[in-house]
Amino acid sequence: MKIIDTHCDVLLKLQMAKRGKMYNKEPLNFKNSEQLNSNLNRLKKGGVMAQFFAIFIHPDVPSEEKWQHALEQIDLFYTEILGKNPEMKHIKKWEDFDRLHDGEVGAVLTLEGADAIGNDLVKLRHLYRLGVLSIGLTWNNANLCADGAEEPRGGGLTLFGKEVVKLNNENRVFTDVSHSTVKGFWDMIELADYPIASHSNTRLLCDHPRNLYDDQIKSMFASNGLIQVVFWPPFIKNNDKKVTISDLIKHIDHLCSLGGAKQIGFGSDFDGISSFTERLEDASKYQNLINELLNYFSEDQVKGFAYQNFLDFRPQ
Ligand SMILES: [Zn+2]
Repeated sequence: MKIIDTHCDVLLKLQMAKRGKMYNKEPLNFKNSEQLNSNLNRLKKGGVMAQFFAIFIHPDVPSEEKWQHALEQIDLFYTEILGKNPEMKHIKKWEDFDRLHDGEVGAVLTLEGADAIGNDLVKLRHLYRLGVLSIGLTWNNANLCADGAEEPRGGGLTLFGKEVVKLNNENRVFTDVSHSTVKGFWDMIELADYPIASHSNTRLLCDHPRNLYDDQIKSMFASNGLIQVVFWPPFIKNNDKKVTISDLIKHIDHLCSLGGAKQIGFGSDFDGISSFTERLEDASKYQNLINELLNYFSEDQVKGFAYQNFLDFRPQ
C-alpha cells in the first residue's frame, strides 16, 4: 500500500555529515546510506509515495548563522535528494501529488521551527518560493514567533507569529502545530486555514508535551486539520523501553474514536529519533504497520491513514 509520510529529519543528517560533524566525516548518500532511516531504497521498499523533508536547525546554532544553515539544508534537498535521484519528484504545489507516477517518490520541503527567518518576512517569502509547503512556528524552545512545546513559560503566538500564520494561509501552506505549546495551539487553530500536526500522538495515552489533548484533537478535526501519528517510543508509551506497533495503533484507535478516521496519517520522524518502535525501525518496514492495521480496520480505512486522508485534506 502507498504511504505519505509528513516528517523526517534526513536534511539535518545530510548537513551534519557534510559539515563533518558525524559519521567519521563521511558524506551520506541519500540513495542507500545505512545511517539514514529514510534513504531512497528504504522509502521505495516501504512503499512511500511521498516523503516530507524538514529544514531543522538546532537551537545551539548561533542566531546569525541560522539562515545560512537553512540555505545549506535546502541546497542538499536540491542537490543530493532531487539532483542525484531522477525518481525523486519535487512537490512544489499541492496539485503535484496528482502527477506522481508509480516508481516515483514525491519530496516535500517543510520548515520545523521558524528561528531561521528571525523577524524577516522577506526570508519567509523566499522559503515559499523555494517550495516550502508546511511551516511549524517553533521547535521545542521559544523564538520570535512563539514559545515551543518545552518552553516553561508556555506562551502563545507573538504578533509576528500571527503574521507568519496569515502568510501561510495566503500561500496555501500548512501551519504545523506539532511542537506548539497548548496556548500557541489555540492561537494557531483560531488563525490557521490549513492546520496540521505533522508528527504528534495523543496525550491521553502518552502524557508528553509533544502530544495533543482530546479537546485539541477534536478542534483539529473540526478545523479540517490533519493529525499524523509519530513513531518515536517516548511519544507512544510513557516509561517503557519496549514499544510495539500495537501500542502505536492504540493512538490511531483513540484518534478514530474522537472522529478522526478520515483525518489522520503518518509522520514517522525517522532520522530525527534515536530509538524505534519494534518492527518499524526504518522506512522500509512501513508495510509491517499496514499489515497490522489491516487486522483492526477495513482496507479503505487503512488506505485513508496511509495516503488518501492526506490527499483529501491537503490545502485546496
Ligand atoms: Zn519534531
